[in-house]
Amino acid sequence: MPEFIAKPASLKELWKQLPSLPASRRYLAGGTDLVTADNAGAETSECWVDIGDLPELNGVRETSSAVFIGSAVKVSELERSAPVRKWCPVLLAAVPHFASPSLRNMATLGGNAANASPCADGVCALVAEDACVSLALGGKRRRLPLKDLFSGPKRTALKKDELILGFEVPKRPHTGAYLKLGPRARFGISKAAVALAAELSGRRLTRAAVALGSVAPVPLYAARTSEWLAGRTLSAETAAAAASLVMSEVSPITDARSEAAYRREMCGVLLSRALESLAA
Ligand SMILES: Cc1cc2nc3c(=O)[nH]c(=O)nc-3n(C[C@H](O)[C@H](O)[C@H](O)COP(=O)(O)OP(=O)(O)OC[C@H]3O[C@@H](n4cnc5c(N)ncnc54)[C@H](O)[C@@H]3O)c2cc1C
Repeated sequence: MPEFIAKPASLKELWKQLPSLPASRRYLAGGTDLVTADNAGAETSECWVDIGDLPELNGVRETSSAVFIGSAVKVSELERSAPVRKWCPVLLAAVPHFASPSLRNMATLGGNAANASPCADGVCALVAEDACVSLALGGKRRRLPLKDLFSGPKRTALKKDELILGFEVPKRPHTGAYLKLGPRARFGISKAAVALAAELSGRRLTRAAVALGSVAPVPLYAARTSEWLAGRTLSAETAAAAASLVMSEVSPITDARSEAAYRREMCGVLLSRALESLAA
């Protein structure tokens, strides 16, 4: 544990306090990654800055064009949120796949994104939802497509002290699916995961977005497969062709959880099943 934990009451107070805190400091949200790293001896910061209760990072709000999900919203809260239920079907479908109920009561989407694991379920779903991430550093704010936040395993475009405020999901009527293959049906890190968002006109896909977890150095937006799917009709042939295309977009590795060739093949199987689930 660090020697010091700061707990500002507002964003204004956070920016005021930061310069006086030890240089080696980190934000603490739900702590599910940070405390685990600390227990493993891999976390050595002198100070944690508890942002979990900052009002500006909590709550889900609707604007005329988007749903804003605060970065400190707990994963378990998503299921109870009416705007998430209405406008974020892929994220909603990912929630039961995320760890366990007790973990979901602590874990946040901001921590999921900042931790930048290629297998982050919340991020993978949000990338398929075409989410943008809102960032703040002092008085400066910026916004970028979530898929562009990641540059490698555990690496992001976040600057020192830059804070994830939340995620904006465009309000577009769509449907979707989230399928995850792990060592068990629940409570496991994925070998591969596929998130699919789709706008349908009858059986025709007018827009599709495919994102994948655990099969690339970052949560991957499958641009070629997504573009290819737009305008196609849902059918066994479409599913088979999309499956083969997505397999060419991923770059999985062999590690303790799975083998590269198996992961690649499962990406095709999972996408094919996700497309079939839309047709059902
Ligand atoms: C047993 C177990 C099972 C798990 N299963 C899954 C799973 O199935 N799927 C999955 O995706 N993940 C899983 N995880 C990983 C973890 O729960 C998630 O990544 C979670 O979303 C992290 O959120 P947190 O609020 O706990 O982050 P924290 O641990 O508080 O923080 C993680 C990192 O993000 C930074 N950070 C946090 N919030 C912000 C912010 N707003 N702005 C900038 N930086 C920030 C922190 O400084 C830290 O570096 C599991 C973890 C454990 C221990």
